[in-house]
Formats: sequence, structure tokens, C-alpha cells
Amino acid sequence: MADKRDYYEVLGVQKSASEDEIKKAYRKLAMKYHPDRNPGDKAAEEKFKELNEAYEVLSDPDKKDKYDRFGFAGVDPSYGGGAGGFGDFGGFGGFGGAGMNFDDIFDMFGGFGGGRRSSRRNGPQKGRDLQKTVTIDFTDALFGCKKTIEISKDVKCKTCGGSGARPGTGRRTCDACGGTGQISQVSNTPFGRFQNVTTCSKCGGTGQVVESPCSDCGGSGRIRKTVKINVDIPAGVDTDSIVTVRGQGEPGINGGPDGDLYIVVNVKAHSTYKRRGNDLYLDLPITFDQAALGAKVQVPGFGETYSYTITPGTQTGSSFRLKGKGVPDVRTGRKGDLYVRVVVEVPTKLSRKEKKAIEEMAGKLGDDAYPKKNKFSKLKF
Ligand SMILES: [Zn+2]
Ligand SMILES: [Zn+2]
Repeated sequence: MADKRDYYEVLGVQKSASEDEIKKAYRKLAMKYHPDRNPGDKAAEEKFKELNEAYEVLSDPDKKDKYDRFGFAGVDPSYGGGAGGFGDFGGFGGFGGAGMNFDDIFDMFGGFGGGRRSSRRNGPQKGRDLQKTVTIDFTDALFGCKKTIEISKDVKCKTCGGSGARPGTGRRTCDACGGTGQISQVSNTPFGRFQNVTTCSKCGGTGQVVESPCSDCGGSGRIRKTVKINVDIPAGVDTDSIVTVRGQGEPGINGGPDGDLYIVVNVKAHSTYKRRGNDLYLDLPITFDQAALGAKVQVPGFGETYSYTITPGTQTGSSFRLKGKGVPDVRTGRKGDLYVRVVVEVPTKLSRKEKKAIEEMAGKLGDDAYPKKNKFSKLKF
């Protein structure tokens, strides 16, 4: 208990994070640490549990409020002793945990996956969804791009077409369950007779087994392969955008649909431009004389240059906006704006002649030329 990490730290968000940011952070990490993705990895399992606990609290406004005010003591009566006053929590564990599958995480946020996995084991089941992070350049995010990614996944065995049967051979009724796909066991207990029905393990609930298994896949109908997949990344994506590639997950089970592939985008920073949402930001260096006298300046854009006229007397740090010169919205295509901040560059490495020229200019400029500085020099504190 003493080593518990702060819930905001667990989710990697600021204390001021919005409901949406918390959700997004949870989804991203839940996909990363989900036990389905990390079989046998104890550390990942712990992270997943920690994550669910943090999310259970931070996604509930009431619990979040108590946590913000009282820390762990506010949300878990067993923590730290003493407090004891916030007894309306039954501890953790009801939510999430290892029993929660991928689709549940997606379903939780609505409209994500292609529907819930069938709960009937022997019915058609959607194949596993896969996730892959792709890093792209700043410019590629503005214009969209095509990426070829490599991913290791189960694919349908070509030799048997996924049936698992050696070509030319068929299927026969499963002898273990007689074709029902279920095994029923009757047990006598002190409380009476119980009939326990389980899925037949020999045929996996399909009621049929292959006569002779395919030699390439050993009868499973699938093989592990590293495949290349072409992905269209749309213009306007940003870090943490998710691009869904339908049907590129793992093959469906018992005739179910194939899973989907979720591409999580990571956009590299640009050396000069900054981006916030669909708006772009740029610092543009100008000279003292351009700022004082006004000038027509060129703003370097992506694939084009914009002209802008700076008015005389422009101060360093002032900004102007170029409407519609930002990033297209990934859904609507409507472009954000470009904010240009002018920064007056002070000349350095001056020759004697140049120094003299500046001294002459300075000598000719009266106090009225610098009203702010003039006022400032008269202030007394
Ligand atoms: Zn069977
Ligand atoms: Zn095969």
C-alpha cells in the first residue's frame, strides 16, 4: 500500500486533465498492458491492475473529487487507517481486472470495434484485434501519407484454407461429444445431482474434427507470420490518433469476422513549427528596421510561402493570424489557422562601420521615439 503510485501518475495525465483526456490515456495504456497482449507477463498484469484501479477512481466524478481532496484515504477505507470516514466504497475489483477483454475496453468508449465478441464459445467469434504504434513525420501528419507496417500475427493457413484439414480430406463428427460440441457431466454432491455442461475440448465446440490434420498448421488452420500491411494515414492526424484498418486483425473463429488493426499514431515534433490541435504556430525573426518601418515579409509554409505586410511600429512578440493555413481537421477537412509571432532579431557580430551606423541612428532618435521606455525610466518603486 505504501508504494502506491499516484493515480494521475499511473495514467500519465495532469491533475487538470479533462474527462476525455483521462479516458484517452486509459484506453491507450489498457491496450498496451492488457493481459491478452502480454501473456505470462507479471509486470504487465500488475500495471493493468494498477491502471484499472486508477481509472475506476478518476473516471467517477465523485470518487475523483474525494481522491483529489483526501488522496488514497478518500477512496479506499483500508488505506492508511485513521480516516475511516469515507466508508461508501466497497474497495476495488468489480471493474476491469483480468476478466475484461479487449472488446470490452473498446466497447466502453463506444463505436470503436466491430462489435462484441460472441460469448458463446462454440459460436462464431470475431478474431483478435491488434494494435500497432506508427511514428510519422510532422509534415506527413499534415498531408496524410501511406505507410507499410510489419506486424507479426496469426493468419489463415493457405494450405488448408483455414479449415485445418489436410487437402483432400474432410471432417468427421467429433467422437468425444458426438457432434453436439458440448460435454455434460453429472456429479453427485451433498446438495444433490448437478449437471455440468462444458464445451468439448477436442473439437472446440464445433462438433467436428478433421480426419487428418493439415501438415503446415498442425490442424489449427492458422499460422504465425510477419506480414506487411499498407495503411492510409489521413491528413490531419495527431499524436494518439487511432486509424482503424478493418479486417486486418487475426482471423475470425468458427466463421466469425476477422479482427481489426488499430494504428496508434505518434507524430514527430518539427524543428520550427509547433502544433496545437489544428492550429500551427511559428516564430518569425524580423529585423529592427522591418519592425520600425513596416515591411512585406515572407512566411515559409509547407509547400507554399505566404506574404504578409507588417505595419510600421510592430513590437517584438506580437502575433498575426493567417486564417485557414493550419492543419486540416482529420474528419471534416476544415483547416485550422497559422499563428505567426514576430521576433525582432538584434544584430550581433557587428563590424566597426556597422556599430557606427547604429550609434548615429541612436543619436538621431529622440525620447519620443520610445514612449514606453521613456515612461519606464521615470518610474520609482
Ligand atoms: Zn467434440
Ligand atoms: Zn493448414
